[in-house]
Amino acid sequence: MIVSLAQGQIKTLYGTFTEHLFYDGIKESHALVMGQITEQEDVLCRVHSSCIFAHHFNSVECDCREQMAISQQLIQKAGKGIIIWLDQEAKGNGHYALLQTLPLKKEGMSQAKAYQKVGFHKDKRDFSAAAKILQQFKVASITMITSNTNKTKTLTQYGIKVSGIQPTELDQY
Ligand SMILES: [Zn+2]
Repeated sequence: MIVSLAQGQIKTLYGTFTEHLFYDGIKESHALVMGQITEQEDVLCRVHSSCIFAHHFNSVECDCREQMAISQQLIQKAGKGIIIWLDQEAKGNGHYALLQTLPLKKEGMSQAKAYQKVGFHKDKRDFSAAAKILQQFKVASITMITSNTNKTKTLTQYGIKVSGIQPTELDQY
């Protein structure tokens, strides 16, 4: 169960979106919507998780900021779409875990292995809230903006019809 708490318009570098704030009893999730998406097919959809480094500290060690910018640009170009932002920092492990992995990453270890080495999950993210939000908007099918096919699989398991994938090529940025 997820409920819509409030909504409001936000002007971005890539057009005006309506933000819908959702709450499932534990966490807040945000949906940025442009245009008419209800009962629409092939709605561009980005499911994006928290990244404090990129979005607050302008880190250049990951591409989360660019991924968000590309998603907003693609949606602006299409005139409709939805970006769902989930509060699951550091693959759902929390920022503390991420800081613990930094020395291991400097030695060349992958992020996933480093999380496990310091006692966390390689990926603890849960995309069920995104599925519930898409169901609330009654989106008929989505074209996922992603380069991660796992995310697509998970949403499909929750009953979301994924009609296509729009890869995020960083050279579009
Ligand atoms: Zn990031």
